[in-house]
Parts: sequence; structure tokens; C-alpha cells
Amino acid sequence: MPSDLKDCKIVFECRQCGDCCKGYGGTYVTEQDIEAISRYIETEPQHFTAKYCNFSGTKPVLAQRKDGYCIFWDQLCTIHPVKPKMCRRWPFLKSVLVDTDNWQIMADSCPGIRSHAPEKLVEKCVREALSKDR
Ligand code: SF4
Ligand code: SF4
Repeated sequence: MPSDLKDCKIVFECRQCGDCCKGYGGTYVTEQDIEAISRYIETEPQHFTAKYCNFSGTKPVLAQRKDGYCIFWDQLCTIHPVKPKMCRRWPFLKSVLVDTDNWQIMADSCPGIRSHAPEKLVEKCVREALSKDR
């Protein structure tokens, strides 16, 4: 979570349980994610995509191990400083602005999310997080 979103710890604080790093069909990676992670693990983007990604249609997603965990999970995220946008933004997603019920649904699968948090505060946090997107 970006440091300027500290107030949003009231509505979300990651417990580092790793539940979101397992299942769900994998994590999408953007071109910027691929470049950043490749630099971090000191490999070429092409090699990174071939070795660490699968494809969902035409979109690359991080590969998962046999146990269902993301290939970069090892008791914690091993690429934390450059983790994909999708991981960085969770749970402050556009879909929450479309329907705040999505916040409650997400809370069912993420112990870090405070369910029934004040709607206005949740929306404010989502807007702030989205405005920081690179
Ligand atoms: S499921 Fe929620 S609390 Fe657990 S690691 Fe993921 S974001 Fe953090
Ligand atoms: S990149 Fe890191 S935070 Fe994202 S799913 Fe993989 S292990 Fe979890």
C-alpha cells in the first residue's frame, strides 16, 4: 500500500496470509510489470514470460505451482518491491466504485479487509489508490 494511503489501514491492512496468492486463475501482468519484475530478478522480459507466465487468452498471467500458489510466493511475496499492479492495488479496485457490495464479497476471501467499513471511506481509499496508478 502506498504510504500516502496510511489512513486506509482502517479499512484494509494485509495480514500476509497469502490467501490471495493462491488460486483465482493467476495474476495478470502488464508490460510494465513484466519489465519491472524482469529487471528485479535480472532476466530478459522474453525469458521471464516464457519461464514464469502462462497465458489466459492472449494475456500473460503469473504461473502457479502445483499447490496453486503463485510461482513467486514463498511464505511471502518474493518480488514484493515490484509486484504486479493487480497485487499492489488489491483491494482498492475499480469494481468497488461500480458496486460497493464488491467490497463485502472481497472481504469474504481476504482477512485484511474490514467488512462493513464506512462506504464513503472505502470509496475515498479506492479513488486515491487509483489516482496513484502508474
Ligand atoms: S488475502 Fe488479504 S490479508 Fe491475505 S495476503 Fe492477501 S491481501 Fe493480505
Ligand atoms: S506476485 Fe506476489 S503478491 Fe502477487 S500473487 Fe504472486 S506472490 Fe502474491
